[in-house]
Amino acid sequence: MSRTIFHIDANSAFLSWTAADMVERGSRFDPRLIPSVISGRESTRHGIVLAKSIPASRCGIKTGEPLHLAKKKCPELVVLPMSDNIYAQKSIDFYNLLLNFSPSVEQFSVDECFVDYSDMERFYGNPYECAKAISKAVKDNLGFTVNVGISTNKLLAKMASDFEKPDRIHELYPYMIKDKMWPLPVGDLFSVGKKTASKLNKAGILRIGDLAKASPESLRPILKSSAEILIAAANGLDLSEVKTEVSPPKSMSMSYTTPRDVNTYEDTRTYLITLCEKLCVRLREKNLTASGVTVNLFSRERVENTHQNTIIGHSNCTYTLVNTACELLTEMWTKTPIRRVGVAFWGLKSDKVIQNNVWTGAKEVVWNTFDDAADDVRRRFGESVLMPCSTLHNSAHNNTKIVAFSPEFSLSTIRNNNVKNA
Ligand SMILES: [Mg+2]
Repeated sequence: MSRTIFHIDANSAFLSWTAADMVERGSRFDPRLIPSVISGRESTRHGIVLAKSIPASRCGIKTGEPLHLAKKKCPELVVLPMSDNIYAQKSIDFYNLLLNFSPSVEQFSVDECFVDYSDMERFYGNPYECAKAISKAVKDNLGFTVNVGISTNKLLAKMASDFEKPDRIHELYPYMIKDKMWPLPVGDLFSVGKKTASKLNKAGILRIGDLAKASPESLRPILKSSAEILIAAANGLDLSEVKTEVSPPKSMSMSYTTPRDVNTYEDTRTYLITLCEKLCVRLREKNLTASGVTVNLFSRERVENTHQNTIIGHSNCTYTLVNTACELLTEMWTKTPIRRVGVAFWGLKSDKVIQNNVWTGAKEVVWNTFDDAADDVRRRFGESVLMPCSTLHNSAHNNTKIVAFSPEFSLSTIRNNNVKNA
Protein backbone atom coordinates (compact mmCIF):
# COMPACT_ATOMS: atom_id res chain seq x y z
CA MET A 1 0.00 0.00 0.00
CA SER A 2 1.35 3.42 -0.95
CA ARG A 3 2.37 5.73 1.86
CA THR A 4 2.52 9.54 2.02
CA ILE A 5 5.55 10.94 3.80
CA PHE A 6 6.56 14.58 4.34
CA HIS A 7 10.03 15.80 5.18
CA ILE A 8 9.84 19.25 6.76
CA ASP A 9 13.02 21.27 7.06
CA ALA A 10 13.27 24.67 8.77
CA ASN A 11 15.01 27.16 6.43
CA SER A 12 18.30 28.56 7.84
CA ALA A 13 17.10 27.27 11.19
CA PHE A 14 19.58 28.93 13.55
CA LEU A 15 19.21 32.34 11.93
CA SER A 16 15.42 32.06 11.47
CA TRP A 17 14.93 30.94 15.06
CA THR A 18 17.10 33.69 16.49
CA ALA A 19 15.23 36.22 14.31
CA ALA A 20 11.79 34.83 15.28
CA ASP A 21 12.79 35.04 18.95
CA MET A 22 13.98 38.66 18.53
CA VAL A 23 10.75 39.64 16.77
CA GLU A 24 8.68 37.91 19.51
CA ARG A 25 10.55 39.98 22.09
CA GLY A 26 9.69 43.19 20.27
CA SER A 27 12.90 43.76 18.29
CA ARG A 28 12.37 46.38 15.59
CA PHE A 29 14.94 44.87 13.29
CA ASP A 30 14.63 41.45 11.71
CA PRO A 31 18.05 39.97 10.83
CA ARG A 32 16.46 37.94 8.02
CA LEU A 33 15.94 41.15 6.05
CA ILE A 34 19.58 42.32 6.15
CA PRO A 35 22.96 40.62 5.54
CA SER A 36 23.41 38.68 8.80
CA VAL A 37 24.92 35.43 10.02
CA ILE A 38 25.02 33.22 13.10
CA SER A 39 28.58 32.48 14.14
CA GLY A 40 30.72 31.28 17.02
CA ARG A 41 33.09 33.73 18.70
CA GLU A 42 35.86 34.98 16.43
CA SER A 43 38.09 35.73 19.45
CA THR A 44 38.07 32.06 20.47
CA ARG A 45 38.74 30.74 16.96
CA HIS A 46 35.14 29.54 16.53
CA GLY A 47 34.28 32.27 14.02
CA ILE A 48 32.62 30.12 11.38
CA VAL A 49 29.38 31.00 9.56
CA LEU A 50 26.76 28.55 10.86
CA ALA A 51 23.69 30.07 9.20
CA LYS A 52 23.08 33.05 6.94
CA SER A 53 20.22 35.30 5.84
CA ILE A 54 19.14 35.48 2.19
CA PRO A 55 20.67 38.99 1.80
CA ALA A 56 23.95 37.50 3.17
CA SER A 57 23.75 34.68 0.58
CA ARG A 58 23.36 37.32 -2.12
CA CYS A 59 26.74 38.77 -1.00
CA GLY A 60 28.26 35.35 -1.73
CA ILE A 61 28.59 34.28 1.93
CA LYS A 62 28.63 30.51 2.40
CA THR A 63 27.80 28.36 5.42
CA GLY A 64 30.99 26.97 6.96
CA GLU A 65 33.30 29.76 5.81
CA PRO A 66 35.45 31.74 8.30
CA LEU A 67 33.77 34.86 9.61
CA HIS A 68 36.65 37.17 8.61
CA LEU A 69 36.20 36.11 4.94
CA ALA A 70 32.43 36.68 5.19
CA LYS A 71 33.08 40.19 6.56
CA LYS A 72 35.38 40.93 3.62
CA LYS A 73 32.54 40.02 1.24
CA CYS A 74 30.11 42.19 3.19
CA PRO A 75 31.63 44.78 5.57
CA GLU A 76 28.22 45.75 7.03
CA LEU A 77 27.46 42.10 7.96
CA VAL A 78 25.57 41.72 11.26
CA VAL A 79 26.93 38.83 13.35
CA LEU A 80 24.64 37.15 15.88
CA PRO A 81 25.78 34.62 18.50
CA MET A 82 24.56 31.03 18.82
CA SER A 83 21.83 30.42 21.36
CA ASP A 84 21.34 26.77 22.29
CA ASN A 85 18.33 27.51 24.49
CA ILE A 86 16.41 29.26 21.71
CA TYR A 87 17.19 26.43 19.26
CA ALA A 88 16.10 23.75 21.75
CA GLN A 89 12.80 25.54 22.46
CA LYS A 90 12.01 26.27 18.78
CA SER A 91 12.82 22.67 17.89
CA ILE A 92 10.33 21.41 20.50
CA ASP A 93 7.67 23.94 19.34
CA PHE A 94 8.21 22.82 15.70
CA TYR A 95 7.80 19.12 16.61
CA ASN A 96 4.70 19.79 18.73
CA LEU A 97 3.05 21.85 15.97
CA LEU A 98 3.54 19.01 13.46
CA LEU A 99 1.72 16.63 15.82
CA ASN A 100 -1.45 18.59 14.96
CA PHE A 101 -1.23 17.21 11.42
CA SER A 102 -0.42 13.57 12.19
CA PRO A 103 0.30 11.43 15.25
CA SER A 104 3.34 9.97 13.40
CA VAL A 105 6.10 12.57 13.61
CA GLU A 106 9.80 11.68 13.76
CA GLN A 107 12.34 14.28 14.81
CA PHE A 108 15.19 13.61 12.39
CA SER A 109 17.47 16.44 13.52
CA VAL A 110 17.10 19.66 15.47
CA ASP A 111 15.40 21.38 12.49
CA GLU A 112 14.03 18.48 10.43
CA CYS A 113 11.05 16.16 10.96
CA PHE A 114 9.35 13.38 9.02
CA VAL A 115 5.55 13.16 9.10
CA ASP A 116 3.59 10.08 8.01
CA TYR A 117 0.39 11.38 6.38
CA SER A 118 -0.73 8.01 4.93
CA ASP A 119 -4.53 7.55 4.85
CA MET A 120 -5.15 10.93 6.45
CA GLU A 121 -6.49 12.93 3.49
CA ARG A 122 -9.89 13.33 5.16
CA PHE A 123 -8.31 15.66 7.75
CA TYR A 124 -6.28 18.18 5.76
CA GLY A 125 -7.01 17.31 2.12
CA ASN A 126 -4.57 15.87 -0.39
CA PRO A 127 -0.83 15.79 0.47
CA TYR A 128 -0.07 19.06 -1.33
CA GLU A 129 -2.92 20.88 0.47
CA CYS A 130 -1.73 19.49 3.79
CA ALA A 131 1.85 20.58 3.05
CA LYS A 132 0.55 24.11 2.36
CA ALA A 133 -1.36 24.05 5.65
CA ILE A 134 1.78 22.91 7.53
CA SER A 135 3.90 25.60 5.91
CA LYS A 136 1.34 28.30 6.78
CA ALA A 137 0.89 27.06 10.35
CA VAL A 138 4.65 27.14 10.99
CA LYS A 139 4.91 30.64 9.52
CA ASP A 140 1.85 32.03 11.38
CA ASN A 141 2.49 30.39 14.76
CA LEU A 142 6.26 30.02 15.00
CA GLY A 143 7.43 32.86 12.71
CA PHE A 144 9.79 30.99 10.37
CA THR A 145 9.61 29.28 6.97
CA VAL A 146 10.10 25.63 6.00
CA ASN A 147 10.67 23.51 2.92
CA VAL A 148 8.33 20.53 2.61
CA GLY A 149 9.23 17.47 0.55
CA ILE A 150 6.38 15.10 -0.35
CA SER A 151 6.74 11.49 -1.48
CA THR A 152 5.99 7.86 -0.71
CA ASN A 153 9.03 7.24 1.49
CA LYS A 154 11.45 9.09 3.77
CA LEU A 155 14.40 9.07 1.36
CA LEU A 156 12.47 10.69 -1.51
CA ALA A 157 10.71 13.16 0.80
CA LYS A 158 14.11 14.21 2.19
CA MET A 159 15.55 14.59 -1.32
CA ALA A 160 12.51 16.67 -2.35
CA SER A 161 12.78 19.11 0.55
CA ASP A 162 16.39 19.82 -0.46
CA PHE A 163 15.31 21.14 -3.85
CA GLU A 164 15.04 24.91 -4.27
CA LYS A 165 14.80 26.88 -0.98
CA PRO A 166 13.38 28.70 0.96
CA ASP A 167 9.65 28.43 1.73
CA ARG A 168 8.90 25.88 -0.98
CA ILE A 169 6.91 22.65 -1.35
CA HIS A 170 8.30 19.98 -3.69
CA GLU A 171 6.91 16.61 -4.77
CA LEU A 172 9.14 13.71 -5.72
CA TYR A 173 6.95 10.70 -6.41
CA PRO A 174 8.61 7.55 -7.83
CA TYR A 175 7.51 8.35 -11.40
CA MET A 176 9.36 11.72 -11.12
CA ILE A 177 12.75 10.20 -10.08
CA LYS A 178 14.06 9.95 -13.62
CA ASP A 179 13.47 13.62 -14.41
CA LYS A 180 14.02 15.28 -11.04
CA MET A 181 16.57 13.14 -9.17
CA TRP A 182 18.72 11.24 -11.64
CA PRO A 183 20.24 14.36 -13.28
CA LEU A 184 21.58 15.58 -9.86
CA PRO A 185 25.27 15.13 -8.89
CA VAL A 186 25.76 11.80 -7.09
CA GLY A 187 26.98 13.70 -3.99
CA ASP A 188 23.47 15.15 -3.60
CA LEU A 189 22.01 11.70 -2.88
CA PHE A 190 21.06 11.43 0.79
CA SER A 191 23.62 9.23 2.62
CA VAL A 192 26.39 9.79 0.05
CA GLY A 193 29.13 11.74 1.84
CA LYS A 194 31.95 13.76 0.28
CA LYS A 195 34.45 10.88 0.39
CA THR A 196 32.04 8.40 -1.23
CA ALA A 197 31.06 10.96 -3.87
CA SER A 198 34.71 11.50 -4.75
CA LYS A 199 35.33 7.73 -5.05
CA LEU A 200 32.25 7.36 -7.26
CA ASN A 201 33.29 10.32 -9.44
CA LYS A 202 36.70 8.71 -9.97
CA ALA A 203 34.90 5.55 -11.10
CA GLY A 204 32.98 7.60 -13.68
CA ILE A 205 29.72 7.81 -11.67
CA LEU A 206 28.88 11.50 -11.77
CA ARG A 207 25.07 11.64 -11.55
CA ILE A 208 22.55 9.88 -9.31
CA GLY A 209 21.20 8.25 -12.49
CA ASP A 210 24.65 6.70 -13.19
CA LEU A 211 24.61 5.12 -9.72
CA ALA A 212 21.02 3.89 -10.18
CA LYS A 213 21.98 1.98 -13.33
CA ALA A 214 25.30 0.56 -12.04
CA SER A 215 25.66 -3.11 -11.04
CA PRO A 216 26.49 -3.99 -7.40
CA GLU A 217 29.43 -6.13 -8.60
CA SER A 218 31.06 -3.20 -10.38
CA LEU A 219 30.79 -0.96 -7.31
CA ARG A 220 31.65 -3.47 -4.56
CA PRO A 221 35.41 -2.75 -4.80
CA ILE A 222 34.71 0.93 -3.93
CA LEU A 223 31.57 0.80 -1.79
CA LYS A 224 32.00 -2.64 -0.18
CA SER A 225 28.80 -3.77 1.56
CA SER A 226 27.08 -0.40 0.94
CA ALA A 227 26.95 -0.97 -2.85
CA GLU A 228 23.45 -2.49 -2.90
CA ILE A 229 22.07 0.03 -0.38
CA LEU A 230 23.32 3.06 -2.33
CA ILE A 231 22.14 1.69 -5.68
CA ALA A 232 18.71 1.10 -4.11
CA ALA A 233 18.74 4.67 -2.75
CA ALA A 234 19.60 6.03 -6.21
CA ASN A 235 16.50 4.16 -7.44
CA GLY A 236 14.42 5.85 -4.72
CA LEU A 237 13.88 2.68 -2.65
CA ASP A 238 13.46 3.05 1.12
CA LEU A 239 11.22 0.98 3.36
CA SER A 240 12.11 2.60 6.70
CA GLU A 241 9.26 3.65 8.98
CA VAL A 242 8.61 7.08 10.47
CA LYS A 243 9.74 6.40 14.04
CA THR A 244 7.31 8.00 16.44
CA GLU A 245 8.80 6.53 19.60
CA VAL A 246 11.81 8.64 20.42
CA SER A 247 14.18 6.68 22.61
CA PRO A 248 16.09 8.98 24.95
CA PRO A 249 19.83 9.32 24.30
CA LYS A 250 22.06 7.15 26.50
CA SER A 251 24.53 9.95 27.11
CA MET A 252 25.07 13.64 26.47
CA SER A 253 28.44 15.30 26.11
CA MET A 254 30.07 18.63 25.40
CA SER A 255 33.67 19.68 24.92
CA TYR A 256 35.55 22.92 24.40
CA THR A 257 38.88 23.48 22.64
CA THR A 258 40.58 26.32 24.44
CA PRO A 259 42.16 29.15 22.43
CA ARG A 260 45.48 28.67 24.28
CA ASP A 261 47.10 26.33 26.79
CA VAL A 262 45.30 26.27 30.13
CA ASN A 263 47.94 25.92 32.80
CA THR A 264 46.08 26.16 36.09
CA TYR A 265 43.60 23.98 37.93
CA GLU A 266 41.36 27.03 38.56
CA ASP A 267 41.07 27.94 34.86
CA THR A 268 40.44 24.32 33.84
CA ARG A 269 37.75 24.14 36.52
CA THR A 270 36.15 27.31 35.10
CA TYR A 271 35.80 25.71 31.67
CA LEU A 272 34.53 22.49 33.22
CA ILE A 273 31.85 24.25 35.30
CA THR A 274 30.67 26.26 32.29
CA LEU A 275 30.34 23.09 30.18
CA CYS A 276 28.59 21.17 32.99
CA GLU A 277 26.12 23.97 33.55
CA LYS A 278 25.17 24.11 29.85
CA LEU A 279 24.78 20.35 29.76
CA CYS A 280 22.59 20.41 32.89
CA VAL A 281 20.26 22.91 31.19
CA ARG A 282 20.00 20.51 28.21
CA LEU A 283 19.25 17.57 30.51
CA ARG A 284 16.41 19.45 32.18
CA GLU A 285 15.04 20.68 28.85
CA LYS A 286 14.75 17.07 27.74
CA ASN A 287 13.40 15.98 31.15
CA LEU A 288 16.32 13.60 31.62
CA THR A 289 18.51 12.67 34.57
CA ALA A 290 22.01 11.17 34.62
CA SER A 291 23.57 8.49 36.79
CA GLY A 292 27.23 9.14 35.92
CA VAL A 293 29.74 11.79 34.94
CA THR A 294 32.91 11.50 32.83
CA VAL A 295 35.52 14.25 32.56
CA ASN A 296 38.05 14.29 29.70
CA LEU A 297 41.15 16.47 29.55
CA PHE A 298 43.32 16.65 26.44
CA SER A 299 46.84 18.02 26.46
CA ARG A 300 48.37 20.01 23.61
CA GLU A 301 49.86 16.71 22.38
CA ARG A 302 46.29 15.31 22.35
CA VAL A 303 46.99 12.89 25.19
CA GLU A 304 43.68 12.08 26.84
CA ASN A 305 43.14 11.81 30.58
CA THR A 306 39.70 10.44 31.51
CA HIS A 307 38.04 9.86 34.87
CA GLN A 308 34.46 8.92 35.64
CA ASN A 309 32.18 8.41 38.59
CA THR A 310 28.63 7.31 39.28
CA ILE A 311 26.01 9.22 41.25
CA ILE A 312 23.85 7.31 43.70
CA GLY A 313 20.41 7.49 42.10
CA HIS A 314 19.80 9.87 39.20
CA SER A 315 20.07 13.63 39.01
CA ASN A 316 19.79 16.61 36.70
CA CYS A 317 20.65 19.08 39.45
CA THR A 318 23.45 21.48 38.50
CA TYR A 319 24.79 21.45 42.09
CA THR A 320 25.20 17.64 42.15
CA LEU A 321 26.60 17.19 38.65
CA VAL A 322 28.99 20.16 38.80
CA ASN A 323 30.37 18.98 42.15
CA THR A 324 30.82 15.40 40.87
CA ALA A 325 32.71 16.73 37.82
CA CYS A 326 34.88 19.02 39.98
CA GLU A 327 35.77 16.12 42.30
CA LEU A 328 36.88 14.15 39.25
CA LEU A 329 38.99 17.09 38.07
CA THR A 330 40.67 17.33 41.48
CA GLU A 331 41.67 13.66 41.44
CA MET A 332 42.89 13.71 37.81
CA TRP A 333 44.73 17.07 37.81
CA THR A 334 48.41 16.57 36.90
CA LYS A 335 49.44 20.19 36.14
CA THR A 336 49.83 19.25 32.45
CA PRO A 337 48.69 22.21 30.27
CA ILE A 338 45.25 21.52 28.79
CA ARG A 339 43.91 22.30 25.29
CA ARG A 340 40.49 20.64 25.42
CA VAL A 341 38.05 20.01 28.25
CA GLY A 342 35.14 17.60 27.86
CA VAL A 343 32.34 16.35 30.06
CA ALA A 344 29.73 13.64 29.52
CA PHE A 345 26.64 12.70 31.52
CA TRP A 346 25.59 9.09 31.03
CA GLY A 347 23.08 6.49 32.19
CA LEU A 348 20.33 8.90 31.13
CA LYS A 349 16.73 8.26 32.16
CA SER A 350 13.48 10.16 32.09
CA ASP A 351 13.20 12.41 35.16
CA LYS A 352 9.86 10.78 35.90
CA VAL A 353 11.83 7.87 37.40
CA ILE A 354 14.11 10.10 39.48
CA GLN A 355 15.20 8.61 42.80
CA ASN A 356 16.66 11.10 45.21
CA ASN A 357 20.10 10.31 46.49
CA VAL A 358 19.79 10.08 50.29
CA TRP A 359 23.05 11.98 50.76
CA THR A 360 22.39 14.91 48.47
CA GLY A 361 18.59 14.63 48.33
CA ALA A 362 17.82 17.39 50.84
CA LYS A 363 20.27 19.83 49.23
CA GLU A 364 18.93 18.92 45.79
CA VAL A 365 15.42 20.01 46.74
CA VAL A 366 16.80 23.51 47.38
CA TRP A 367 19.01 23.48 44.31
CA ASN A 368 16.22 22.16 42.08
CA THR A 369 14.23 25.26 43.00
CA PHE A 370 17.21 27.39 42.04
CA ASP A 371 17.70 25.47 38.76
CA ASP A 372 14.03 26.05 37.87
CA ALA A 373 14.41 29.79 38.52
CA ALA A 374 17.69 30.00 36.55
CA ASP A 375 16.16 28.06 33.61
CA ASP A 376 13.20 30.46 33.63
CA VAL A 377 15.47 33.56 33.62
CA ARG A 378 17.43 32.12 30.67
CA ARG A 379 14.24 31.36 28.74
CA ARG A 380 13.03 34.94 29.25
CA PHE A 381 16.24 36.94 28.86
CA GLY A 382 18.59 34.69 26.89
CA GLU A 383 21.14 32.14 28.00
CA SER A 384 24.07 34.53 28.40
CA VAL A 385 22.48 36.59 31.21
CA LEU A 386 23.38 33.94 33.81
CA MET A 387 26.73 32.36 34.48
CA PRO A 388 28.60 30.66 37.30
CA CYS A 389 30.17 33.15 39.74
CA SER A 390 33.25 30.98 39.75
CA THR A 391 33.83 31.77 36.06
CA LEU A 392 33.66 35.56 36.49
CA HIS A 393 37.37 36.13 35.96
CA ASN A 394 37.02 34.71 32.43
CA SER A 395 37.16 37.69 30.05
CA ALA A 396 34.88 35.88 27.56
CA HIS A 397 31.95 36.79 29.81
CA ASN A 398 32.33 40.58 29.80
CA ASN A 399 28.74 41.27 28.74
CA THR A 400 27.08 39.39 31.57
CA LYS A 401 24.50 41.46 33.42
CA ILE A 402 23.24 39.08 36.09
CA VAL A 403 25.49 37.06 38.33
CA ALA A 404 24.33 33.71 39.64
CA PHE A 405 25.28 30.20 40.66
CA SER A 406 28.28 28.94 42.42
CA PRO A 407 28.29 25.61 44.27
CA GLU A 408 30.02 27.35 47.15
CA PHE A 409 27.48 30.18 47.48
CA SER A 410 24.42 30.05 49.68
CA LEU A 411 21.06 30.76 48.11
CA SER A 412 20.67 34.02 50.03
CA THR A 413 24.00 35.33 48.69
CA ILE A 414 22.88 34.54 45.16
CA ARG A 415 19.49 36.12 45.71
CA ASN A 416 21.11 39.34 46.97
CA ASN A 417 23.57 39.41 44.07
CA ASN A 418 20.75 38.88 41.59
CA VAL A 419 18.71 41.73 42.98
CA LYS A 420 21.72 44.06 42.93
CA ASN A 421 22.88 43.19 39.44
CA ALA A 422 19.69 42.44 37.53
MG1 LIG B 1 17.30 23.21 7.80
